[in-house]
Amino acid sequence: MEREQEFARQYRSQPGQGAGEAAGFGDFSDFFNTYFAGEGGGFSGFGFEGTRGRTATRPRGEDIEHPIEISLEEAARGGERTIQTEVPETCPTCGGSGFVGERRKVGSRTVMESVTCATCGGAGVRATRRQIQVKIPAGVTEGARIRVRGEGQRGAEAGDLYLRVHLLPHPRFAAKGRDLYTPLPVLDDQAVLGDEVTIQSLTGGQLQLRIPPASQAGKVFRLKGKGLPALKDGLPGDLYATLEIRIPEPITPPLRDLYEGIRKERAS
Ligand SMILES: [Zn+2]
Repeated sequence: MEREQEFARQYRSQPGQGAGEAAGFGDFSDFFNTYFAGEGGGFSGFGFEGTRGRTATRPRGEDIEHPIEISLEEAARGGERTIQTEVPETCPTCGGSGFVGERRKVGSRTVMESVTCATCGGAGVRATRRQIQVKIPAGVTEGARIRVRGEGQRGAEAGDLYLRVHLLPHPRFAAKGRDLYTPLPVLDDQAVLGDEVTIQSLTGGQLQLRIPPASQAGKVFRLKGKGLPALKDGLPGDLYATLEIRIPEPITPPLRDLYEGIRKERAS
């Protein structure tokens, strides 16, 4: 019961998401603008205008935000996901007031008394679980919001569900917006003499990279367009590979002799 009340408070306290409120527009990310601009003419698809006059009877259902964790590979490739949401619905027993009238006998008289609604515990809302199939578009970034039409709170018109993207950490790649960062370990001779190397991309592809001679540790190589893909007509991100210098393993006797030679040369 306490959990449901907390739940209700949480959703009630979200500003700018109520029916007919246009104030929330300022919060929409660039992602929203670019990705969803083509759907129903962008903001006009919300239907705020249409419901404003009817809010007194049955308001448009509120938009719901729900976090979603996505692996970096999934962000690069896109995919489908079955998610479970808990959407607060107006309690059908009390109609959202949190109280119901109950007849009580006081002596010889019967009186109506207002008591806490047993269905919702006085919260006025209750959580409804739903399973939804959602499409993860390729190229989503940290903090992006994926809109799932009509899966918000029910009402005269159902609100929308917004999935707030959180990208999970990856062992080899870090994402910053659409750009990707990865370490590029090479052996010392490759850094000194230069070499052609291959980087395994996030989606399994092979990226060729030329290391020029005398490349110092920490040197950053930019692979244009090899970051996370673009959404619609935008630009893909870049991949930044930072050179790390490793030593050979194991150091065999001939290798050791060669390094001794390098040391002598350096000292002279
Ligand atoms: Zn109730």
